[in-house]
Amino acid sequence: MKITVVSPHRGDAAFALGLSIGAWLREGHAVEVVSCFTRSEFAPYSDVGLLHRNDRVSFVTAVRKREDEAWRKQVGVAKFTITDLNLKDAPLRLHIGANEVFGRVADASEKVVAKIKRALEMSKAGAWVLPLGLGGHVDHVTARNVALSALATAATPVAFYEELPEAGAVTGEEAIDAVVVQLALAVQSKLEPALAGGAGLTDVEDAVAKKRRVAWCYDSQIDEAATTDIAEFCRRFGGAERIWTNAAWRSQGL
Ligand SMILES: [Zn+2]
Repeated sequence: MKITVVSPHRGDAAFALGLSIGAWLREGHAVEVVSCFTRSEFAPYSDVGLLHRNDRVSFVTAVRKREDEAWRKQVGVAKFTITDLNLKDAPLRLHIGANEVFGRVADASEKVVAKIKRALEMSKAGAWVLPLGLGGHVDHVTARNVALSALATAATPVAFYEELPEAGAVTGEEAIDAVVVQLALAVQSKLEPALAGGAGLTDVEDAVAKKRRVAWCYDSQIDEAATTDIAEFCRRFGGAERIWTNAAWRSQGL
């Protein structure tokens, strides 16, 4: 089966699903990651601050493209692909500050909706994996909602992932449960938590080390502390990643 993962920004799918994607590939599935809002000047751990304003977007966009490429090479199998939608991220598209991207309503602009929908149609996936939208970043909520609107039927297997490191900052499971309840209504199916990515690893330390290696592909985005948060989060699940699955996903035995 082909599994398509929606990554609002470069790195989101890798941070949250590095283990799961490896496991799906080992099980023989093809995996496509769709990186949506890839034009950006957000790279706090790069040299972007040294550049003239006019050069920042092209510099950061190129740095982050190399980061996706580094992850693709690290995974290193032909059945793993990354598609770049080349859309502007929220600060560039909506002309807002980096601290104003949270808690806004989803962006329904024609270009954004059309590009994401088209990419998902083209991917011809048998199963979809979408972000929960934890933290309420407008790019995450937008990508998730457009994907939901493109889902043909409740018979399509779909799962949701918790964004990292955002999920680690959520205090209490209630906030996550509230999002899951909303999304269950949207996909007209009970969503149940499942653990993915743990199979084939020798132990929890192996899982943490693998997550750390994946996260470090994106070192313009995260510092050592965030890398540790992302990698260590899998300990609470015994070295796996948590997703929420609809009935169709479960009936496929994914
Ligand atoms: Zn993101």
